[in-house]
Amino acid sequence: MIKIFKTKNEILDYRNSKATNLTIGLVPTMGNLHAGHLSLLKNSILENDISIITIFVNPTQFGPNEDFNSYPRTLDHDLTLIEELALKMSSAKEIAVFAPTSNDEIYPENFSTSISIGPLKNILEGKIRPTHFDGVTTVVFKLFHITKPHNAYFGQKDYQQCVIIQKMILDLELPISMHIIPISRNADGLALSSRNQYLTDTEMKMALTLPKTLNAIKDAVLNNRDFLDAINEAKQDPRWDYLEVLDAHTLNDDIENKKDLVIVGAYKINQTRLLDNIVVKNVR
Ligand code: AMP
Repeated sequence: MIKIFKTKNEILDYRNSKATNLTIGLVPTMGNLHAGHLSLLKNSILENDISIITIFVNPTQFGPNEDFNSYPRTLDHDLTLIEELALKMSSAKEIAVFAPTSNDEIYPENFSTSISIGPLKNILEGKIRPTHFDGVTTVVFKLFHITKPHNAYFGQKDYQQCVIIQKMILDLELPISMHIIPISRNADGLALSSRNQYLTDTEMKMALTLPKTLNAIKDAVLNNRDFLDAINEAKQDPRWDYLEVLDAHTLNDDIENKKDLVIVGAYKINQTRLLDNIVVKNVR
């Protein structure tokens, strides 16, 4: 059973009408849903009485030359996918969709506050997209505030985003448990992404360099080979924006004696930047 809300006041009324003993799961998205998003929602449905999925293409996380205007907006299709999932799970649990019709619902005129997370926002994606994470943390904080979830679901696909939101939850003592859901991939191993549809067939094949390289580095890490060789060799290809092995918890590059590592990469094919990562636990 899906309920759809298009304004902030409607979702606030809905949320505030819920008994305090019911658990709420939140799945923030920008829509154009695929199996990756649906796996977040599935986890939320399984683990909560009520799941709220938000669909909002957040302007503040796009840079001036990025794809905000052309980002795929497919609300009707998204709602169909959510309904199909609800039917498939034959769950009597409630699902609410918050899909604001206008940016003003989130950013009213003269909105001027920003949530900003220390140095983590300046590395990796943040180096290339300097305003991106302020936009992400601000909108996620606001969605947390509106929906007051007990559990929030994010995809491992955006690994730095997960670390940053986890840090925001910790620093601001938000009473929310964060759940990081594994990456959904297509049959060839490419991480699903709304931006994959910008790629031609040839570019889709090229994109496989991303997961293949991450896997090669993972093998080097696990077999105690010098993974720096693998990184340096891969980086001969100028399409890499970054390719690094970092501490999985802090994203620090001092990984000596660190047990859990993450291999993160961003690979750019013409105008399309693709992200992927692999976490390798208990290395030592
Ligand atoms: P987006 O709509 O791209 O902002 O993504 C919304 C949420 O879905 C984020 O938490 C993403 O990390 C997550 N997500 C996107 N793609 C995938 C994927 N392939 N597998 C798992 N989660 C994903």
